[in-house]
Amino acid sequence: MTDDKNTMEDLVSLCKRRGFVYPASEIYGGINGFWDFGPLGVQLKNNIRDHWWKSMVECTPAGPDGQPLQIVGLDSAIIQNPKTWEASGHVEGFNDPMVDCRECKTRFRVDKIATVTFSKDGDEILSTHIETESASTAFEDAIASLNSKQRKLLKKAGNDVKTSARFLNDTGDGSAVACPLCGGELTEPKMFNLMFETFVGAVRNDDARAYLRPETAQGIFLNYKNVLDTMRVKVPFGVAQIGKAFRNEITPRNFVFRSREFEQMEMEFFCHPDESGRWYEFWKQHRMEWWKSLGISEQNLRFREHGKEELAHYSDACVDIEYRYPFTAPDFGELEGIAHRGCFDLSAHQDYSKIKMEYFDHGGKEADDSRYIPHVIEPASGLTRGTLVLLCEAYTPDPDRPSGVYMKFDPKFAPIKAGILPLVARDGMPEKAVGLYMDLRKDFMVELDIKQNIGKRYARQDEIGTPFCFTIDGQTGEDGTVTVRYRDSLQQERINIDGVKKFLAEKL
Ligand code: ATP
Repeated sequence: MTDDKNTMEDLVSLCKRRGFVYPASEIYGGINGFWDFGPLGVQLKNNIRDHWWKSMVECTPAGPDGQPLQIVGLDSAIIQNPKTWEASGHVEGFNDPMVDCRECKTRFRVDKIATVTFSKDGDEILSTHIETESASTAFEDAIASLNSKQRKLLKKAGNDVKTSARFLNDTGDGSAVACPLCGGELTEPKMFNLMFETFVGAVRNDDARAYLRPETAQGIFLNYKNVLDTMRVKVPFGVAQIGKAFRNEITPRNFVFRSREFEQMEMEFFCHPDESGRWYEFWKQHRMEWWKSLGISEQNLRFREHGKEELAHYSDACVDIEYRYPFTAPDFGELEGIAHRGCFDLSAHQDYSKIKMEYFDHGGKEADDSRYIPHVIEPASGLTRGTLVLLCEAYTPDPDRPSGVYMKFDPKFAPIKAGILPLVARDGMPEKAVGLYMDLRKDFMVELDIKQNIGKRYARQDEIGTPFCFTIDGQTGEDGTVTVRYRDSLQQERINIDGVKKFLAEKL
């Protein structure tokens, strides 16, 4: 991946051109914050999804004692009883404070605006707040509006001018008065609830109001007792779920990074309160290793522990796994959050539903010890954001090849594992290619591409990140060999057509 500021634009255009991601409702002018995954995008996303499910549910990680953990799967409804979201705090608290610019009408999330606040005389920096998912468009303008004294002050304060390029003047009482983009007047902050509402049934009144889930996690808490009563699990155990979540984000942006409909992969790990600190550490490390196992380079990943002021009142600790996206670089943005949620959710649902959420530990030594509400460690990651990360990570400009760029996916996650290409569409070559394709497709996601000149077909396979191409040519008819072309090295070698399946199995 490169830091080129055009990388994101190029990547978005490649995604569209090659069938990874399309703007939703494009023929009607699109709809802000929604995206459709095309044929290759859905394949890539499913590969990540399946890998998470496999390593979380079907082949659970080994715990600190070397024994496999108990984690079971779930697929709960997107619409639940609205009391769910009262208990979880989403109805009351799932708000972002927003300000609008009265001039250019841009809407900002107050806590996401990058601001440097200077004192009235401009001699002093009162505060800096650097946006992490910065859209770089206004940087040049904002930098130009700085006077040299302010530039020096910023430098002295150790700030990279590029990332701190939006400036608010200070009124003296600390409140922001100017739009970071145009300098216009800002409105007072207003709260926006991020949940999408709908109505269940024929009547559209308050009693029929329901919400599209803003996270998959609550469906797990709602089923905690069901799982406990039906699945022979004992604390500590986990319940995992993958599915859509919906948030009416005020400022959807940065491609699929912040969208209004996205997918999450969440797991709630129920444990004894005394052991929750240990499990928090366990999951923190484990999740970081998992992301690395997708072929993401170490220098593009980092932890960011939440400060005390950032933590929800019930939470003991929270850490984000962050990725260095092209639009945040050199800074990082969230990919997954691992939260110590204490017993907040189960206790809240116990209060609202009057159903006991206590766990009875038959093996508890002392009476006090045997009944408790488990504590929860929650690794909550974005499948949509994970897909974006693999796209960013794979994007590799290469002026030496005709496509000018190739997608360097780890072969395990590449949407298409191999392209099968007859050199020309005659002389029995297509027939042989079809034969190979019919054999391979039972085991691997492969693509048969017959028409057009071979250079164009290779270029396309490079751009969609296919790690291997098998080419059937004149020699195939004579000695039964095909050419293997390696995506990364561009090397070619001949192997026997009968050995292709084994070759792929070994490489994948
Ligand atoms: P952010 O601070 O970026 O808004 P968050 O802390 O609210 O995210 P969580 O509620 O912890 O996010 O959700 C878990 C994961 O879900 C995030 O780490 C992210 O990968 C994903 N996610 C959250 N909101 C969005 C969104 N609007 N679009 C895409 N993915 C999202």
